[in-house]
Amino acid sequence: MKKPIQITRFQKAEFLDLVRQLDRENENKIFEPQLPLDRLSKRVSESVTLPAKEPAPECTTCGVCCDALLIVPITKAASERFSEFWDIVPDETAPDTVIERVLPRDTESGRCIHLAGKLGSDISCRIYADRPTPCRDFEVGSDRCHGYRRLYGFENPLSRSAVKAALRHIESTKTDVITYSAIVVESTGWRAACSGEPSGGVTTVPVTYLRVAVIVDDREDDVIALHSYEVSEEEWCESDFLGLTIEEAESLIKTKVCQD
Ligand code: SF4
Ligand code: SF4
Repeated sequence: MKKPIQITRFQKAEFLDLVRQLDRENENKIFEPQLPLDRLSKRVSESVTLPAKEPAPECTTCGVCCDALLIVPITKAASERFSEFWDIVPDETAPDTVIERVLPRDTESGRCIHLAGKLGSDISCRIYADRPTPCRDFEVGSDRCHGYRRLYGFENPLSRSAVKAALRHIESTKTDVITYSAIVVESTGWRAACSGEPSGGVTTVPVTYLRVAVIVDDREDDVIALHSYEVSEEEWCESDFLGLTIEEAESLIKTKVCQD
C-alpha cells in the first residue's frame, strides 16, 4: 500500500512571513555575509574565493547549508518519493493552485526537517540517498559551501583583499539569468464546457489564468511578464525558471506546451 503523504498548504504571503521570521531568528546566530551568497557558485570547478584543490570540508561535522537554506524547492514529479512537503498557493483566489512545492522546515529552528544531529559535530541527512536536486547540486567545497560555513563561524573570514577580488569577479560575471520569479493570478472567470450528461448540453466551469513574472540579475525595476496560462492546461512552479536565461525559459515553456 502507498504510504500517506502529509501536505501542508500555505498562502504565499503566509509562507514568506514564516521565511522572514526564520531569517530574522537565524540572523542572531550567524555572522554578516562577506559576499552575496546567492552569487557564489555551487560548483567546485567554478571556485573563486578558495582554490578548487583545497580539501573539501566534512558535511557530517557541518550541516550549515541544511540549517540556513530556508527554501528548498522540489519538483512535483520528484515529490512523490517524499512523505511530507509544503505546497505554496497564490494569495489571490486560487486555493487549489500550487505555485511552489518545498521541503518542510522545522518552524522553531528553521532547519530542514530531514536534518538529524548536532550542527558542527555529528550531523546527517535522513533522506541522503533520496535528497532532492537542489541538495544534490550544492557541491561540498564550492564557494557557496565555504560562504555558508563562514556565516556560522566554521571557517575563518576571508581577507579584505580576497573579498575585493571575489566581488570584482562577481561584478564582471553578470549572467543574465532569472534570479526571481513569481506566479500570480492574472484573472478568473468562466468558460463553456460540455456538461458530460448523456443528453449532451453545455455548462460553465471556472477558469483561472496565471502570469509568470521574472527578474533577471536582480534588476528589480525591470519585471518581465514571461508567460500566461490557464491552470487546467499547464502546471508551473516559480522555481522552474530560476537560473535560466529568458531564452532558455521561453524554450522550456514552448517544449512543455507542445508536449501537453
Ligand atoms: S555547508 Fe558545505 S560542508 Fe557544510 S554541510 Fe553544506 S555542503 Fe557540507
Ligand atoms: S534534504 Fe537533506 S541534504 Fe537536503 S536540505 Fe534537507 S537535510 Fe539537507
